[in-house]
Amino acid sequence: MKIIDLFENKKTVISFEIFPPKQDAPLDKIYNLLEHFKLLNPDYISVTYGAGGNTRGRTIEIAEKLKYKYNIESMVHLTCVNHTEQQIENLLVLIKEKGLKNILALRGDPPKNQPGYDFTKNYYKHAYELIQHIKQRYSFCIAAAAYVEGHVESRRLSDDLAHLKNKVDAGVDFLITQFFFDNRIFYDFLDKLASVNINCPVAAGIMPVFNADRIKEIAAKSGCSIPAKLVLLMDKYRLSPDDMLKAGIEYAAVQIRDLIDNRVDGIHIYTMNRYDSTRDILEQAGILQVYA
Ligand code: FAD
Repeated sequence: MKIIDLFENKKTVISFEIFPPKQDAPLDKIYNLLEHFKLLNPDYISVTYGAGGNTRGRTIEIAEKLKYKYNIESMVHLTCVNHTEQQIENLLVLIKEKGLKNILALRGDPPKNQPGYDFTKNYYKHAYELIQHIKQRYSFCIAAAAYVEGHVESRRLSDDLAHLKNKVDAGVDFLITQFFFDNRIFYDFLDKLASVNINCPVAAGIMPVFNADRIKEIAAKSGCSIPAKLVLLMDKYRLSPDDMLKAGIEYAAVQIRDLIDNRVDGIHIYTMNRYDSTRDILEQAGILQVYA
């Protein structure tokens, strides 16, 4: 099924994001996780495409299992990093052969341990070029990334918005945002999208705070702000990881409940492959009763 059809038929599309285990780790663990995630009845699950390269071979394999073994619709992430045009074409042929229908088309993060990576080395420098490639040759449902506070590399928010518009016009069916911790920023972002005539569905990316230090690190890297009330929680539970986890789950649940009450198109949860915490978030947000 194409995910865009879910947006057309459903009130709020609930999706999870997972990452493949390292190449030398057994796949059983992730399949065990999928057994559990199935109980939470997500509308689809997306599988990341590793920036480091060593888990990349597993993305398509896991997406295929999701769809055919666990009966959960899946979406493959695909990036331009370190790929020639032919390699991208080979991957698209494989994705099609496996019967998968949905691709999140991205430029990609720098490979791990190469923070100053030169993106001009890639055949495709930006996601919109990958999207053009896919759109011209295939009929996949295409998603792309959006940044409610602007992409960290963009000099001006208006530049980023213009690039996003260009990307959407290249053939995007729906957008998924990077995480944010203040819903007001997301609602403002929706207004900005409308002002430049971006009208496709937008799923709100939610990153639960499972570990304060890790979130600070990721937020700093991604240029995502942390509101004062979350900073206070992080400070309060600095020495108590269990309490931080509880507070992080509650914070994400409150964010999600508010988004649903405001009728957003979709909620995309960056699960960090954690079943218990994801279940607790959905339960506290009241989603398990609504969607299960
Ligand atoms: P682009 O859309 O190409 O944008 C990148 C930068 O280039 C932006 O600053 C943009 O403003 C600018 N730009 C765009 N077009 C032009 C142009 N024509 N001229 C000049 N500048 C331009 N990374 C991974 O490696 N693997 C994953 O699985 C993965 N999953 C993700 C899932 C989600 C939901 C999100 C939000 C991000 C994910 N990422 C992943 C991270 C993503 O790859 C990075 O944020 C990356 O830095 C940008 O990717 P993009 O597709 O948004 O790039």
